[in-house]
Amino acid sequence: MAHDITFSMIKPGAVKAGHTGAILKMIEDAGFSIVAMKKTWLSKEQAKQFYAVHKERPFYDHLTSFMSESPIIALVLQKDNAVQDYRKLIGATNPENAEPGTIRKLFAQSLEQNAVHGADSDENAQIEASFFFSKTEIYTNEQVQASSEVKMAS
Ligand code: ATP
Ligand code: MG
Repeated sequence: MAHDITFSMIKPGAVKAGHTGAILKMIEDAGFSIVAMKKTWLSKEQAKQFYAVHKERPFYDHLTSFMSESPIIALVLQKDNAVQDYRKLIGATNPENAEPGTIRKLFAQSLEQNAVHGADSDENAQIEASFFFSKTEIYTNEQVQASSEVKMAS
């Protein structure tokens, strides 16, 4: 399993508040490559499927309503140690506990509307990336490098 890919979403509240550009800048400044990106709008059903792991939690219904209330940005990111480093960059789930300078500290509106999602394991990063993107929509650094070498040679 690759250790250099993670999956993220910029959540509806942060997109609506106009923080997409600032968040993408923090992501790139932290050394992540954006290897896939799209703006899309989850249905309630899709949000429930995405967060199915939380289906027994009391906040599940509210969370999935909020996640489907307006568009999100889906991202596949590449960097060594991507999952852990990205969780560090976004900060704690509850923005009150997030370190200064983290994405959630800067842009979260509440514990629920905490600006971004970050995958919690390599395995889930792959599953979540496939939830939003087909293989032909993801261009890893190695794929870009290999095909630009072919183009340069021709
Ligand atoms: P995410 O999976 O979105 O990256 P996380 O892994 O930091 O967040 P999880 O425990 O997986 O945290 O919770 C998923 C999401 O559910 C949180 O990001 C937050 O939006 C929401 N959430 C978590 N705990 C609560 C809570 N107690 N009340 C309301 N919403 C919550
Ligand atoms: Mg989580």
